[in-house]
Amino acid sequence: MHPFAYVAPNTVAEAVAVLAEHGDRARPLAGGTDLLVKARANVWELDAVVDVKNIPELMSLSVNGDGLSIGAGVPCYQVYENEEIQAQYPGIVDGASIIGGIQVQSRAGLGGNLCNAAPSADGIPSLIAYGAVAKISGSNGNREVAIEDFATGPSRTVLDNDELLTSIEVPKPAANSGAAYTRFIPRNEMDIAVAAVGAFVQLDSSGQNFESARIALASVGPTPILAKAAGDSLAGKPVNDESIDAAAALAKDAATPITDMRGTVDQRKHLVEVLTGRMLRQAVERARG
Ligand SMILES: Cc1cc2nc3c(=O)[nH]c(=O)nc-3n(C[C@H](O)[C@H](O)[C@H](O)COP(=O)(O)OP(=O)(O)OC[C@H]3O[C@@H](n4cnc5c(N)ncnc54)[C@H](O)[C@@H]3O)c2cc1C
Repeated sequence: MHPFAYVAPNTVAEAVAVLAEHGDRARPLAGGTDLLVKARANVWELDAVVDVKNIPELMSLSVNGDGLSIGAGVPCYQVYENEEIQAQYPGIVDGASIIGGIQVQSRAGLGGNLCNAAPSADGIPSLIAYGAVAKISGSNGNREVAIEDFATGPSRTVLDNDELLTSIEVPKPAANSGAAYTRFIPRNEMDIAVAAVGAFVQLDSSGQNFESARIALASVGPTPILAKAAGDSLAGKPVNDESIDAAAALAKDAATPITDMRGTVDQRKHLVEVLTGRMLRQAVERARG
């Protein structure tokens, strides 16, 4: 592994300055569960690693009337052990609680999961389904990017070298809404998804009709995918097998998988259809309380 300086700044401005100084030879470090594996494999040659865990705003987690704010360095266990998040954002808990095992979840966070930009990232589909936004700071100021636009390819994101993800902002779900996420893996734990689906549904006050829905897919394309036509197809439809099956078929159409050692194109597309139906039904159950 190439030797690098370890820098642990206390402010976003200091972190951005170090990133700007080193260009593509520096990277932020959150939990390190992806970064250290890649550094050891010489994926990058780094001169500096910028630990974000001393920056208070990147370690803050809050739930309030506006929504959920997840600091970019907050580890997964703090997210899924939070009772307000469990009650209001079960889809995010579904994702955060299956990233690796307990040791990984004690270090790794949703911020690192997002910035690592794996097509199979378990934290990203629910963030897309909830309509979350990434807050970014850099030398040229601050900006916000919708989560579905954040990854631009495998391990590639919209971030410039001098930019830092500071937090993920998730809007407060309205009454009569629910969400769920699951993945298909050949074993019961600690594996990479063959296909995965996150769904968010907004029902009307009767609980019998969809007002809107958002469906996101993972492991079936170069980035996590917002299956927009599938979610939009449910607006105004009754909650029944016909509308859910039609949305699941559209989600299958939105998947662009490859065949590799984990699964074939056909298997993955079939899985997307099956998992979309399951996640929509689970999200409806949660919306109905
Ligand atoms: C044993 C094991 C099992 C795993 N299982 C799973 C799994 O089941 N599902 C899954 O999705 N992943 C899994 N992973 C991958 C990894 O744990 C997750 O992607 C995790 O969420 C990464 O978070 P982190 O905080 O450790 O990120 P880090 O490793 O610290 O960072 C990841 C990347 O994001 C960048 N980065 C970090 N913070 C910022 C920031 N604030 N701004 C800009 N860039 C930043 C880093 O430079 C790096 O490129 C596993 C890893 C291991 C080692």
